[in-house]
Amino acid sequence: MPYEVKSLNEECGVFGIWGHPDAASVTYFGLHSLQHRGQEGSGIVSNQKGQLKGHRGLGLLSEVFRAEKCLARLTGSGAIGHVRYATAGNGSIDNIQPFLFNFYDGQVALAHNGNLTNAKTLRRELEESGAIFHSTSDSEILMHLLRKSQGSTFLDQLKEALCQVRGGFAYLLMTSDGLYAALDPNGFRPLSIGQMKNGAYVIASETCALDVVGADFVQDVKPGEIVRINDQGLFVDQFTTTTQLAICSMEYIYFARPDSNIAGINVHTARKNMGRRLAQESPIAADMVVGVPNSSLSAASGFAEESGIPYEMGLVKNQYIARTFIQPTQELREQGVRMKLSAVRGVVCGKRVIMVDDSIVRGTTSRRIVQLLKEAGAKEVHVRISSPPLKYPCFYGIDIQTRKELIAASHSVEEIRQMIGADSLSFLSAEGLIAAIGLKADAPYSGLCMAYFNGDYPTPLYDYQEEYAASFPQTEGDKVNG
Ligand code: AMP
Repeated sequence: MPYEVKSLNEECGVFGIWGHPDAASVTYFGLHSLQHRGQEGSGIVSNQKGQLKGHRGLGLLSEVFRAEKCLARLTGSGAIGHVRYATAGNGSIDNIQPFLFNFYDGQVALAHNGNLTNAKTLRRELEESGAIFHSTSDSEILMHLLRKSQGSTFLDQLKEALCQVRGGFAYLLMTSDGLYAALDPNGFRPLSIGQMKNGAYVIASETCALDVVGADFVQDVKPGEIVRINDQGLFVDQFTTTTQLAICSMEYIYFARPDSNIAGINVHTARKNMGRRLAQESPIAADMVVGVPNSSLSAASGFAEESGIPYEMGLVKNQYIARTFIQPTQELREQGVRMKLSAVRGVVCGKRVIMVDDSIVRGTTSRRIVQLLKEAGAKEVHVRISSPPLKYPCFYGIDIQTRKELIAASHSVEEIRQMIGADSLSFLSAEGLIAAIGLKADAPYSGLCMAYFNGDYPTPLYDYQEEYAASFPQTEGDKVNG
């Protein structure tokens, strides 16, 4: 099967625990709170006195572990788990993580959130030297590199492997005697450590998972760090000191749960500040502010507070419909938006509405919602987007890897306004976004990755460079600076 890169997908979530008598059940609950990061598949590997066993499958966590015995057989005091949405590799069961490797000298489980930018090259090199891959996912590469390392300990081998992969990665690994975590040198993806009352350590993609399992926050895993947790406790080291913080701004804008903190900043608060800034930057006279449930409600409340215009529930969401964004065709996506959201006629009829959403990718959602609001009698619909126009693809795990699907890559704000049928349209500025999030890191953009908005990638693009360059219009006049 050829190495494959899918486009326009989401994230993944990882969770691990060491030192709890029912580690797999705790992992289940932790993963459940990370389900928004991936709904395509999930799995858990547990560690019973050094023996690793796992269960994984396609679908939501509750579907994968529907049969009680699936979780019950995962006994032991250590576990790691994963919820997947494909960033690279197709949606077959082979790509569902954690991967469990059985070697002559032991077992290793691996879970990955992110996307490697040099995966194709590494894979080709590894295959040429005899490696055989089981999946099309880029996550398996680390294990091949680790096994090829001459390092004398697992930690040394892992460090050596981590120095060869590029891009965005938050890894969790488990061996017979410990749990390991590592974060890429830019810290694109969040990864936090917590501790439960009984002393068990947990590591999760988002702090909401620590809260759900009753763990206290201990510290974030920082860029370039490698963490080992075993019966002796927590040990933090670095696999590289060449680091520069560039947290994915989309985590704050859309992906993460509002009750999570990333680098100490609460996601809801950041979104609310985005809404406030948006109201300052692009005020408009209206009767009400309406948020698009659920990801935009925080930003909409900030917009309403700042502008003094009342917040209203002008849109309701059917909670039982899967996310529309991930439907494979435009027709299905349109249908999906229709089933998912309804305008509240009794609220919006005859009114001037400010509709706040967190982002415009293809424009499907905004166009459909403007239409819904107008069909319900709204007199005017002013669209306010709490992020800057998304113009450039992401190669670090969000997997918006093609420019042609980004409406703002090829259209002006006025053109987009016309396409979505809004009476006015404004986006938050890049400076406004950075200020709203309020990170204080001594790094470009205060420690955020802003590449989606300005094409300024914090790392070389390696295997994606050619494809990226080819995606730009060819005529001199049309060229966009990258
Ligand atoms: P679109 O309808 O294609 O313009 O997508 C925009 C909508 O999808 C917004 O309402 C966002 O909340 C949501 N969204 C933005 N980025 C992503 C993403 N990478 N994956 C899934 N949903 C997204």
